[in-house]
Amino acid sequence: TYARSNLAAIDAAHHLHPFSDMRKLNADGTRLIQRGEGVYIWDSQGKRYLDGFAGLWCVNVGYGRKEITDAVARQMNELPYYNTFFGTTTTPTTLLAEKVTSHAGPHFNHVFFTGSGSEANDTWFRMARVYWSAVGKPSKKAVIARKNGYHGSTVAGASLGGMKYMHEQGDLPIPGIVHIGQPYWYGEGGELSPAEFGLTVARELEVKIDELGEENVAAFVAEPIQGAAGVIIPPATYWPEIARICKSRNILLVCDEVICGFGRLGEWFGHQYFGVEPDLAPIAKGLSSGYLPIGGVLVGDRIAEVLINEVGDFNHGFNYSGHPVCAAAALENLRIIEDEKLVERVRSDIGPYFGKVWGALGEHDLVGEAVNVGLMGALQLTADKASRTRFERPDAVGALVRNHALANGLVLRATGDRMLASPPLVITHEEVEEMARIAKIALDAAWRELRS
Ligand code: PLP
Repeated sequence: TYARSNLAAIDAAHHLHPFSDMRKLNADGTRLIQRGEGVYIWDSQGKRYLDGFAGLWCVNVGYGRKEITDAVARQMNELPYYNTFFGTTTTPTTLLAEKVTSHAGPHFNHVFFTGSGSEANDTWFRMARVYWSAVGKPSKKAVIARKNGYHGSTVAGASLGGMKYMHEQGDLPIPGIVHIGQPYWYGEGGELSPAEFGLTVARELEVKIDELGEENVAAFVAEPIQGAAGVIIPPATYWPEIARICKSRNILLVCDEVICGFGRLGEWFGHQYFGVEPDLAPIAKGLSSGYLPIGGVLVGDRIAEVLINEVGDFNHGFNYSGHPVCAAAALENLRIIEDEKLVERVRSDIGPYFGKVWGALGEHDLVGEAVNVGLMGALQLTADKASRTRFERPDAVGALVRNHALANGLVLRATGDRMLASPPLVITHEEVEEMARIAKIALDAAWRELRS
């Protein structure tokens, strides 16, 4: 229906893209993705790619799940829209609230729905301040976040995020948001062991709390594993120390589960993998496997009780908070994850297999380390393995490998000199092998070019 031979020209003329160098798009044309099935996508030229990035870390159940599209069509026909303001709800919205909280820890019994992960981060940011005011500590307003964290593109989301190139646009962060370091041992650990480095970076939180004054700090936010920063897997010492500090200093702990949630790490939520209990947890992406936009915040009992009984009316919400059609898609998506035991599959079958096959890429001369937890992995590119030397132009090397992978039919994301992988949770053993085989071809081709 939409076939137009000049789509690339139309796109360049009318479409402003997020996070894309639009000068290049105008010159080279955009890639038009037309179809998806399982772990594969096809572009307008009919070329097939293994989507090693699950769209944007979200298509957990894979493409082409008719169960979801059927559920969406049914809900569309019955009730395409209603809101959740002023005490109303819809059936899928309420059932989704029950289902999603059933998979979180026992202290998570409530969810506040949003349309996206960014809105989810804006939501908990206000909620945390409202909570502290309601319990008589209105000065607890500041939020501590991390360098290179990613929490979305809204004003609060981009401020909570620690991406310098985002802060530079729009004069961010907004007041009241400060950043500490990230547990990126390969790049910043120097002579410290990973365990020592994990503790050192975690203790920056305590130093920052002292600097700001405990009575002024509302919360600390972090992704269980930083995603957009390059799949930065913290040393084992990191999370227990962070949890200890938040508890002893009475600071809310917020785990951003937008990527790590819904099975990617072999647990329903990333904080469960690291054994910590956050007070608030923004979610999105894998909640609906990206089939329709929906997000939310899991709200711990401590905060929910105050919101319900003390605050009563939280003056916050979105037209699409708990949208019935998106909720129907999410419900069916969660049913698939449950019925196909995808979380257990990542934990005990495909995750370890991916670790073995992807991990073997660590032998490559261009790869300093190949890491993963479950189906979230990265390759650190290096100019010299022994000394962990980085390339002078890390972005260019990452882009080189990514482009060779694309040319050979594999989508990987490059963040600087780290190649990121996050395939659908339904990926088979053979498809994992195909991913690694093409990644190796891309690494070989890049290595040859870099040395010539
Ligand atoms: N938080 C994390 C950890 C993310 O990775 C993202 C998106 O990639 C977001 C928040 C923002 O989500 P959205 O793009 O749905 O607003």
